Amino acid sequence: MLDPRSIGQQSANMSDLKLFNSLTRKLEVFQPVHPGEARVYSCGPTVYNYPHIGNMRAYVFADVLGRTLSFKGYKLTHVINITDVGHLTDDADSGEDKLEKAAAERAQSIWDIARHYTEAYWADVKALNIREPAKWSVATDYIDEMIEFAKGIADKHCYELDSGLYFDVSTVADYGRLARAVTEEGEARIDAVAGKRNAADFAIWRKTPPDEKRQMEWDSPWGRGAPGWHLECSVMGGKLLGFPFDIHTGGIDHREIHHPNEIAQNQAHCCTDGLDVAENSGARIWMHNNFLVERSGKMSKSSGEFLRLQLLIDKGYHPLAYRMMCLQAHYRSELEFSWEGLQAALTRLKRMVMAVENIPLDAPSDAPEENYAWIDRAISQDLNTPQLLSTFEFSIQSKQVAVGEKAEILRRVDPLLGLDLLNLTRADLRIRPKSATITEAEIEAALARRKEARATKDFATSDAIRDELSAKGVEVMDGDPLGWEWRL
Ligand code: AMP
Ligand code: ZN
Repeated sequence: MLDPRSIGQQSANMSDLKLFNSLTRKLEVFQPVHPGEARVYSCGPTVYNYPHIGNMRAYVFADVLGRTLSFKGYKLTHVINITDVGHLTDDADSGEDKLEKAAAERAQSIWDIARHYTEAYWADVKALNIREPAKWSVATDYIDEMIEFAKGIADKHCYELDSGLYFDVSTVADYGRLARAVTEEGEARIDAVAGKRNAADFAIWRKTPPDEKRQMEWDSPWGRGAPGWHLECSVMGGKLLGFPFDIHTGGIDHREIHHPNEIAQNQAHCCTDGLDVAENSGARIWMHNNFLVERSGKMSKSSGEFLRLQLLIDKGYHPLAYRMMCLQAHYRSELEFSWEGLQAALTRLKRMVMAVENIPLDAPSDAPEENYAWIDRAISQDLNTPQLLSTFEFSIQSKQVAVGEKAEILRRVDPLLGLDLLNLTRADLRIRPKSATITEAEIEAALARRKEARATKDFATSDAIRDELSAKGVEVMDGDPLGWEWRL
């Protein structure tokens, strides 16, 4: 099999990889800081609750970016952090620490909560066929480094209040460039902390109030307390990937507060100036996926039906149908979740699996290289997965494309989209709700008996079996063009 990495970005035939940089609001040609390498940092989950499928969209996006960089021949180093301290109930400086709050409410240790939800997140990562990053960096493993980083910028960029150490955003050039305008609405979202010099100033270190005890607290030059949320990403990004690194990703909400604050810290730490030179922000390219939304509005973990991946699985959907749903939209477009949409994505995935069943995967191809250029062209255009999917689907189903060429397309595209088409079977994709009272083996046995009855033209028995199955919620689907023999 041809390793996509071996064709590499060195190949003269490959297109330039163009990515949308939120910092400049432009498509830019990817030029690695270190030749042949790509270093990517993705803001990871805050592990106080299960991720919802909107959160998982952010990691499917980061995964497609990583797969693209590998496809283009770069040696990828991807870091995703796990936030187990510091993230307040509001992204700015108000509210409580999300993990402290969850622990107090449930009378559990923070460490147990963090472990439980980290594992739940990893299960979703696996189910969605998201590749493991080179490193999962856990915030509480870097407290010493965070204190060192804060010490380094404290004199010139910070000031102390009773509640903690604050970053003065007026000490760096172009603060908030990433968010563009600090709108009045944006200003209003930032809670006033008594004594803050600028509304947008943010905590680097939060002191534990004298009458409080936190489960997670550490000694620092500014008293016992915990780091501010933005600090961890600056510290882990810089330490693990080196400033400047290539690409920083996150959901579009991070473009407003978290990433501007990270950038300000990076500027202070690197002693660099304004943001006209992209690498002064700590990373050359800042990329943001748009939101998955519900018809009723923003996706939330607290109101309405909590859309976890496990809920989709319990309702009988294969998790890769959700990955397909994500890939069908461009990552910068808002995507609305609906059950009908998920069903449509599942059907599309099934059609692809059926097409793949007819392709002998080791079939050699004598097609010229230019026949495959559309793959590179689509993905190089700011990760245009909807376009790539359409042409891919057409090609593997077309009678005009030779079987060897189809096999070669599949060998190249499957690792790029991560739909696992080389392993999925149509049986894997059958809808199987957790609530079903009949097992698949029982259904298959009943259908085998029915087939026998029909072969001997015993239609009374055949119909009786069909009715029995129907009473148990199984619809027998004779002659279904998609080849589902039954449906629960
Ligand atoms: P959190 O665990 O809240 O820190 O969020 C994890 C990631 O999910 C971040 O990159 C967020 O920007 C992203 N995110 C949050 N909500 C959504 C959503 N509805 N759709 C897509 N991404 C989201
Ligand atoms: Zn972050």
